[in-house]
Amino acid sequence: MSEIKTHYRTCNICEAMCGLEIKYQGNEVISIKPDQEDPFSRGHICPKAVALQDFYHDPDRLRTPLKRTATGWEEIRWDEAFADITANIKRIQAEHGNDAVGIYLGNPNAHNFGNALFLPHFFKAVGSRNRFSSASADQLPHHVASNYMFGAGMAIPVPDIDRTDYMLIIGGNPVVSNGSMMTAAGVPGRIKDIKNRGGKVVVIDPRKTETARIASEHVFIRPEKDALFLLAMINTVISEGLAKLGHLESVVDGLNEVKQACADFPPESVAEVVGINAEKIRQLAREMASAPSAVCYSRMGASTQSFGGLCLWLTNVLNIITGNFDREGGAMFPLPALDLLQRTPKGKPSSYGRFQSRVRQLPYNNSEFPVATLAEEILTEGEGQIRAMFTIAGNPVLSAPGGDNLGKAFAQLDYMVSVDIYLNETTQHANIILPATHGLEVAHYDIFFNSFAVRNTVKFSPPLFEKTGNQMHDWQILKALASHLTGTPEDGSTPELLLEMGLQTGPYKDQGINLQKLKDNPHGIDLGPLKPCLENRIRTADGHIQLAPQIYLDDLARLKDYAASDAERRMEYPFEMIGRRLARSHNTWTQNSQRLVKGRNPCTVLINVEDAERLGITKGQTVVVRSATGHVEMEADVSEDILQGVVSIPQGWGHNRKDTRMTVAATQPGISINTLTDAGRVDPLSGNAAFNGTPVAIEAI
Ligand code: SF4
Repeated sequence: MSEIKTHYRTCNICEAMCGLEIKYQGNEVISIKPDQEDPFSRGHICPKAVALQDFYHDPDRLRTPLKRTATGWEEIRWDEAFADITANIKRIQAEHGNDAVGIYLGNPNAHNFGNALFLPHFFKAVGSRNRFSSASADQLPHHVASNYMFGAGMAIPVPDIDRTDYMLIIGGNPVVSNGSMMTAAGVPGRIKDIKNRGGKVVVIDPRKTETARIASEHVFIRPEKDALFLLAMINTVISEGLAKLGHLESVVDGLNEVKQACADFPPESVAEVVGINAEKIRQLAREMASAPSAVCYSRMGASTQSFGGLCLWLTNVLNIITGNFDREGGAMFPLPALDLLQRTPKGKPSSYGRFQSRVRQLPYNNSEFPVATLAEEILTEGEGQIRAMFTIAGNPVLSAPGGDNLGKAFAQLDYMVSVDIYLNETTQHANIILPATHGLEVAHYDIFFNSFAVRNTVKFSPPLFEKTGNQMHDWQILKALASHLTGTPEDGSTPELLLEMGLQTGPYKDQGINLQKLKDNPHGIDLGPLKPCLENRIRTADGHIQLAPQIYLDDLARLKDYAASDAERRMEYPFEMIGRRLARSHNTWTQNSQRLVKGRNPCTVLINVEDAERLGITKGQTVVVRSATGHVEMEADVSEDILQGVVSIPQGWGHNRKDTRMTVAATQPGISINTLTDAGRVDPLSGNAAFNGTPVAIEAI
């Protein structure tokens, strides 16, 4: 029997970057516990981390390439797989052009630094403009706001949660997410610390979330009304003479335009539609403006809705005009050891808005088109139609808006390749599935999430296990695909080599941060709290913040029309649906762990107690939820924690399709919220999917 050893690494499941202490024997995991010495997560983990061993040992996980044949899936060799892919992709591109091949990236790509470093080679080899990702079903409005205001989509300000005196959280549930676009493991403790030091945390949300329960105050708001609320907050700050730019006075352009734009939105004019009385809005604005330090943090509910672009712009505006930007306790820029902004020169034209999608003319932002338009780009015939797809570590049939229709579109493709660890609702449509290795079998470095982290730290985790099956690492697959498609030999680059180059030219090179130093410090290295560093981060040509980009001012007319037509919209579908994130699941792929799905069905529709009484619905009863695109039958949960007229359904469920191979998930399938969401509902400014606010009707069976 081999000895029990200890391995330290960062959890790769979600954004929170929790440090893990893993005891193992041979290639068996014995235990997964928090790493108390990790300087970022400080001893925090969630139940999902323990399930890493389940995914590692999962018999459903693919371990050799698969080819779909008339008689079912056949295991094939890697060289056969690459030959098949090369021949078919080249055939389709020769006949229909490079853009006939689309690429979709799922969220796990952001947690795999090998992918992040080698995807550009792969993109170049495919040479298609038709790229899509989960970003446009999640956080695209954050990047769009940063692009237009600060000159770069990756210049993301995050709350200085550990020093703020006042935190206003709009549509976010960081107690469950542990911070999203605000990497902050252990949020419950950080929120309690704000309160313990005499500060205040206010949550604005249609649901009394887990975060709202431990906050100082929760205020209900109607879905998709956050932009109106933010405009009324800004109106109050300005009209009551509370605006102050502080040390940013000389570098903020556009304050007068913001003053004019918000003049039409006094709290009294929006209170009824928003569902918050005017005096409460004024009180919150005064509190935020007068706190010693304060920060507004807007997340999923504000981002994945019809006005996500406006919401994230206005969130930045509120932080800036209350004097809480690029200062301690406010919204600040992280300075990561591998700095994605470093090579972006000031004033460089960005990809944002450069093209429009073929069918619906949605904007090309962040070097991709919105995933909401993917199905129609496949299904609509004509010049530029997508006829083949690569999907890489993603399951958009369950995660994208109108997912059922996307499944039908994938089924009609001429050819499809998936890189994935599972045969799931998306990869079942592939001709070839290429199995990548598991997170414990690859080295880990958080390229993206250090850029959103509430404290500057750096950590590298070597692989825990050698791969045991016939898989390749994702980055090896990407390199091999690029090599086969271009007919050029692979070079000797590896993720570690590229990481070392990035660290040695990064902002901490003078402090000796390099790969060897990280390997010598397996718990990670603390680089200190966030510091004011606007001058270093901003990428506009003149180094100024653009407070009022025209694209946002132009979108206000749409918001006014929407507010004016509020009552009409609720005639046929009287409820507004919002999503819900659960502590024991993450996106679509963690449901194949028995320890995470066991117990009571978590995939319920949450309905307000008075609405339920009026409709004759009781807790535990099966109900039908209908939208313009489909209907589902599911269990009702009745609660006072949700606003009247709103229902909430968790995202990421619905593993109930035939011909997939996620056997544990199939025992507790739930339903897919994306049977109900409509790919036609987007925020036209950013192109992000508008999940929240989907009009639905609900009735008892
Ligand atoms: S919060 Fe996220 S990173 Fe932390 S342990 Fe859970 S899944 Fe892993």
